[in-house]
Amino acid sequence: MDKCDVAIVGAGPYGLSAAAHLRLLKGLDIRLFGEPMSFWERYMPQRMLLRSPWAGSHIADPENRLTLEAYRKLNGNHGLAYPIPVTDFINYGHWFHQQTATPADRRKVVRTEMTAKGYRLTLEDGEAVLARRVVIAGGIQPFAYRPQMFERLPASLVTHTSEHRDFGKFRNKEVLVIGAGQSALETAAFLHEAGARSRGYESAGPTAELVSAAAAQDSKPMGAACNSAGRFTTTRDLRTRYPNSYWTVCRPGAG
Ligand SMILES: Cc1cc2nc3c(=O)[nH]c(=O)nc-3n(C[C@H](O)[C@H](O)[C@H](O)COP(=O)(O)OP(=O)(O)OC[C@H]3O[C@@H](n4cnc5c(N)ncnc54)[C@H](O)[C@@H]3O)c2cc1C
Repeated sequence: MDKCDVAIVGAGPYGLSAAAHLRLLKGLDIRLFGEPMSFWERYMPQRMLLRSPWAGSHIADPENRLTLEAYRKLNGNHGLAYPIPVTDFINYGHWFHQQTATPADRRKVVRTEMTAKGYRLTLEDGEAVLARRVVIAGGIQPFAYRPQMFERLPASLVTHTSEHRDFGKFRNKEVLVIGAGQSALETAAFLHEAGARSRGYESAGPTAELVSAAAAQDSKPMGAACNSAGRFTTTRDLRTRYPNSYWTVCRPGAG
């Protein structure tokens, strides 16, 4: 069986940073698993600007060499605006990865088991690797939260914000944004830019045409379902008020 000292599962910013730090320890055989920056490439809106400040957006390396400034300098001080467009951050991540010179094995790790000699990692094609130590840097993508009340509705009608990179498909459509946090506001803005019609409650302040949906039972009588804070508690209530809408769900902690 293939062996290594440290296996890093996930090649997002944290996995890449772990690789950069571990490479300082000479002689360590490090393996990095997963597709570099894939969460950012697949699950973030194409036109998104990073929310984190410049100082909080560097991917950490032990010698402080691979900063955003260093990346910008290499590009002739071009190509890195602030706030940082997500596409630029993705490119920065790939550059950081190249600099750390830890090739990524793009296969997914599907199982991790403890053995007497360390950890046995099974990869998606069935191959196994034995690692003395494992760093899990798998990110937040599996934790997208969908309130229970939407479970029985078809995927064609209800989506989670992380499913949309391009909002163009909502042009001329009516969309309700469920939630009132940062992702909800941003999604409402992208929908507006894409030419979608948004409707809903101003539950999050004057800028938001949003609906806050509280997860609750679907069986309450209509009318009693919408409380004074503008929160919907049943999908039946939402359906009645917005019969032709697509809904996209954003909830705290779900990105
Ligand atoms: C809409 C949105 C906007 C955000 N904006 C910002 C921002 O402006 N600034 C900021 O700092 N943070 C932001 N975040 C948070 C940011 O996404 C995370 O903090 C960051 O991605 C965490 O990095 P990570 O390396 O832990 O995870 P990720 O970037 O998610 O990387 C994890 C990687 O591991 C891979 N992986 C998972 N399981 C396995 C497996 N079993 N085998 C192989 N690979 C696996 C995944 O495919 C993924 O590529 C935002 C998040 C969202 C959802």
